Amino acid sequence: MKIKTKLTLGVGLLFLMIIILSLVAARYINVLKNDTENILVDNYNTLEYSRNMLRALDQTQQSSKAFLTFEENLNKQRKNVTEIGEREVTDAISDHLIQLKQSPSNLTLHQIIRKDITELMRLNMEAIQRKSEIAQQTARSANLWIVITGTLCFLFAFTLLVNLPSNIANPIKELTESIKEIAAKNYSQRVHFGSKNEFGELAGSFNTMAEKLEEYDSSNLSKILFEKKRIETLINNMHEPVLGLDENKKVLFANDEVLKISGLRSEDIMGKSAVDVALHNDLIRSLVQGLVTPKSDTEKEKPLKIYADNKESYFEKEIVNITITPTGEKEKIFIGQVIVLKNITPFKELDFAKTNFIATVSHELKTPISSIKMSVQLLENKQTGEVNEEQKQLIESIKDDSNRLLKITGELLNLSQVETGNIQLNIQQSSPYKILQYAMEAVKIQADQKQIKLIAKAEEDLPEVKADTEKTAWVLINFLTNAIRYSSQESKIVIDVKKQSDNVLFSVKDEGKGIESRYREKIFDRYFQVPGSAKTGTGLGLAISKEFIEAQGGIIGLDSEIGMGSTFYFYLNRS
Ligand code: ADP
Repeated sequence: MKIKTKLTLGVGLLFLMIIILSLVAARYINVLKNDTENILVDNYNTLEYSRNMLRALDQTQQSSKAFLTFEENLNKQRKNVTEIGEREVTDAISDHLIQLKQSPSNLTLHQIIRKDITELMRLNMEAIQRKSEIAQQTARSANLWIVITGTLCFLFAFTLLVNLPSNIANPIKELTESIKEIAAKNYSQRVHFGSKNEFGELAGSFNTMAEKLEEYDSSNLSKILFEKKRIETLINNMHEPVLGLDENKKVLFANDEVLKISGLRSEDIMGKSAVDVALHNDLIRSLVQGLVTPKSDTEKEKPLKIYADNKESYFEKEIVNITITPTGEKEKIFIGQVIVLKNITPFKELDFAKTNFIATVSHELKTPISSIKMSVQLLENKQTGEVNEEQKQLIESIKDDSNRLLKITGELLNLSQVETGNIQLNIQQSSPYKILQYAMEAVKIQADQKQIKLIAKAEEDLPEVKADTEKTAWVLINFLTNAIRYSSQESKIVIDVKKQSDNVLFSVKDEGKGIESRYREKIFDRYFQVPGSAKTGTGLGLAISKEFIEAQGGIIGLDSEIGMGSTFYFYLNRS
């Protein structure tokens, strides 16, 4: 049954019962009123008249007016005959009154009339008693009916009171719960109202909605799952190892290449903290190293050397930070990182080939160049014949060029040694004075040619250093030749050697044009030459110097400002 019908019926019936109750009560009140009115009109008046007649009868002997009063009341009584036998008694009183009028002193008649009036009063008294019994009966049935109807009304109202609110509220409550579930994305939620009322219809519509939402959700989910699969396949098919981490460094994905080179199984790494996995896996450790302790911009990462697939491979690590701007927000938030390893093995192999080639060529060139130098020396010798001024100059330039060639081949050989990791260091306790002296002697002639003053300031009692004397002197010579080359005529170069805590500092300060600060780091890169400077060298000297010093555990650096000259320095550990 519909709620509307239920409500109409319930309230209507209650209303009807209240009307019935009122009608029953009104009817009985009316009956009771009639009963009492009857008593009043029919019998009470007769009693009144009878009393008046008795009083008048008593006075008939004293006053002639008494008969008039008697007759007046008798006439009223005549009009008020209501009971059975009352007419006869009234008529008898009337007859006896006529006789009494004729003989007013007849006491017997007095007696008879008194008896008649008493009879009349008895009749009415009895009637009053009977009628009051009837009235009592009416009151009793009124009571009964009012109680019956009242109880029915109460029971009905009580049933309505108990059932109606829960009948309406319960389905609403259930529906609200279900809506909350749907809002929490639990689309499998359904409501079941058995009744065929408005709530039943509502439940039907709600279930259809939930079904549609579920269908929509699962279709979306399958689409998303499909897309996820596609991306996973894509990442897996990449030939380069790719590792995805969330913002807490938890592994979101690791493609087959990562698993192959790390020797891990998917379940060992997926969903785990990369930092934890790194504790017992070398590859993952080198991958996450940069994430935990970020490297400075200038600090270049060395390529990773990984032994996989029965060969050595080289990888360059690239870390991509992933940020997104959530829908409706303006600020970007960090959601994780993707680490991609670029396989640079082919380049490395080419690099090796190049280094080997350079090493071979420079080695092979050294002998002929040395023999050219020897021949030139012989030519200079007077015993091989006189040379004129022009030939002398030519010999001089051949000498310069072969010296340069020898320097270049020497540097190239050094570089190939450095690149192949074959630097043969002969580290021992070396005297800083010896290194300084060795270098000063080597560049003396060059400095003299440009009339440059070399000022050596070496502290006294310097400790010995842990160094390869030859290589360190080579670095100092490189600093000095650069300083001479990039300084103007007649300037001065100061070489400082002093103790600094546990180190010995060697520095070469010139008065040249200086180096811009933006080149300060790059200057130690291979083949780098400051744009605009004379391209006479190879750009290898400082790069090799750096390798030599760092291989000995020292630090190399430069202080320079444009126009203020340059100071190249290195520290070496004291022994
Ligand atoms: P190069 O063989 O070209 O001298 P280096 O590695 O020794 O190679 O030096 C690299 C570059 O650094 C040089 O080309 C030059 O531009 C710059 N340079 C080195 N020393 C100085 C200096 N004392 N003053 C100015 N520029 C310098």
